[in-house]
Amino acid sequence: IPGLVADSSEEEERSDRLAALGAAIHGVFAQLRQLDRLGETVSWDEWARTFAQAMERARLPIEPSPHAGVQVLDAMAARGVPFRALFLLGLNEKIFPRFIREDAFLRDRNRRVLDATLGYKVDEKLAGYDEERLLFALLQQAARQRLYLLYQRADAEGRSLAVSAYLDEVQRVGSDRPREPELRLPRRLSDRLSLPLFARPLLTREELALGLILQDQDPSALLEAAGGEALLFRHGMHALRLLEGETHELGPHDGLVGRFDRRWEALAARGLAPTPLQQYARCPFQYFSSQVLRLEPVRQPAMGELPAQVLGELCHAVLRSCYQRLVAAGWPQRELPPASVQDHVRCAAGEVFAAYESGHGTGYALTWQLAQDTILALVTAVVEEDQEDCRASGFHPIGFEVEAEGTLSVLDRPEWKPLKVRGRLDRVDRRETPPGFRLVDYKYRQGSKMKDDDKNLVLSAVRGFRLQPPLYALMTISDRSLPERVEFVFLAPHWESVVTRSRFEASSWHAEAGQKLKQTVQTLLEGVEAGQYFILPDGYCDHCEFTAACRRYHGPTWWRAHSSAPARRLRQLRKQKVSRT
Ligand code: SF4
Repeated sequence: IPGLVADSSEEEERSDRLAALGAAIHGVFAQLRQLDRLGETVSWDEWARTFAQAMERARLPIEPSPHAGVQVLDAMAARGVPFRALFLLGLNEKIFPRFIREDAFLRDRNRRVLDATLGYKVDEKLAGYDEERLLFALLQQAARQRLYLLYQRADAEGRSLAVSAYLDEVQRVGSDRPREPELRLPRRLSDRLSLPLFARPLLTREELALGLILQDQDPSALLEAAGGEALLFRHGMHALRLLEGETHELGPHDGLVGRFDRRWEALAARGLAPTPLQQYARCPFQYFSSQVLRLEPVRQPAMGELPAQVLGELCHAVLRSCYQRLVAAGWPQRELPPASVQDHVRCAAGEVFAAYESGHGTGYALTWQLAQDTILALVTAVVEEDQEDCRASGFHPIGFEVEAEGTLSVLDRPEWKPLKVRGRLDRVDRRETPPGFRLVDYKYRQGSKMKDDDKNLVLSAVRGFRLQPPLYALMTISDRSLPERVEFVFLAPHWESVVTRSRFEASSWHAEAGQKLKQTVQTLLEGVEAGQYFILPDGYCDHCEFTAACRRYHGPTWWRAHSSAPARRLRQLRKQKVSRT
């Protein structure tokens, strides 16, 4: 063998190397012998080339053979490599052999015709099954001493998986190797731990810790010795015992985090915004996630139509820009020709769409065009309806996107100083005679019909569903005047009337509903002040952005939240009624 020169001082090492070299060359011949299964006759040149390639791929172990090590390879890479023991994983249907489909556009029979008539050789798809069979045969031959064939009985969700037909064949036909009976591993770790294969010295740290837990033993000492996760484990176990407990009382792990003065003071100083309070009324845990923990929901980028929220934002932007132009042109006191109004709408929309395109892209051209057409039609309809309304009511717009503040002093909690309320008003309208203000808020709706909550704003305020109207009604405008009403203008492309208004009269605070309204706001604020952030599941959960952080499907948590007094109080608010005046 070239390169090996006798050297008496390294006799022993050389003999190891020579033995390894001899084993490697034997391995190469063994690989080539496997090719005999193909039954092909090859020329001397072809044989020599294949032999040279196999020799190039052969490796000499760095260490003597007892430490040859473990290789993890895929089946293709393991072809022709000899192993002492081989573990072949994934002997399940559609995995090994893999699932092969014919090409729907060029069937195998057509490929054969192309080959036979025109001489175009296009590989047949289903011939892949023959390749898989050959691969399996080569792998079986590759194991010199032991071959383990493994398959999965069930997937991670517990669905049973079919065994590969190859395994059936091996069992039916048999082989020249001595066989051991099939070993079926139990699914549960607790059952497996009693098997000799899972003797403690062979387990990883995690398996050992898990085993101790399953056998009702404390693994803290092991965790502490191995990596310092013992404290986390003890906290986890304590929390778990509380969560799974039989008690009917809400606890700190159910959202009762307790009063936190600094947070309440900061909220009182900043001012109360209607939307977060409305969120608390819907579900205190949702409020906790977004307003206290400030969790950011993960939003999937929309691939199809633009989401309703984006359409709503675009409508708002186009309306603001359009009304600023119209007001500058003297509208609505001065009647503008329809063509001129249309021009203003188009210019405003063009600007807003261009800004959106440069900032966010447009997605599919067709859906973007549809969205633009919808918004343009909606804004045009709003302006037309507004023209009529302004003429009839005498109101005309004087401000857009106005930051406003007010005072909530009507509650029966003397220890609370009058609370500041704040908000951003879409539009402020003024009437000269008699003098008065109204606040307008645009709402984009995608449903097919108007919900009851949107029809009766007093009732939905009393129930805590819509808190913008009553709190906006407390906000002072320029010269310390209060608005006489708040109006929601709904832009709904699929409703019978695409533009619809709902009103909340500011005088409602002093009518019969006013007392209930105060009670609702006070109940919600008391919950926020006391740090009660329990879950309150209902139909809206399907659209909740914090569902991944919520334990509404955990039976004991659901039951504690459902039967608790604070949750009952919030549910009670939703059943209140007000008389129609
Ligand atoms: S999923 Fe339902 S219960 Fe859970 S946080 Fe959201 S709204 Fe609340």
